[in-house]
Amino acid sequence: MRVEHKEKILNNAVIDPAHVVEVVCAHCEFDVAETDLSLATCPSCGADLTLKKSVGIQVTPLPPIFGSTM
Ligand SMILES: [Zn+2]
Repeated sequence: MRVEHKEKILNNAVIDPAHVVEVVCAHCEFDVAETDLSLATCPSCGADLTLKKSVGIQVTPLPPIFGSTM
């Protein structure tokens, strides 16, 4: 399962950068679907389902600097 979070901007400041959360089986790194989160065993390797979450911050180009004349 892969969930993308868009960056949150408040008062022109990024308060939460865009990031991607991936939920995979801790044993085989099988991509666990949202509907499979409640399963007792991994549908891929058959081991007791232990979820592993990895969060990746998306590297985005710096936003253009606003001119001081605005
Ligand atoms: Zn597995």
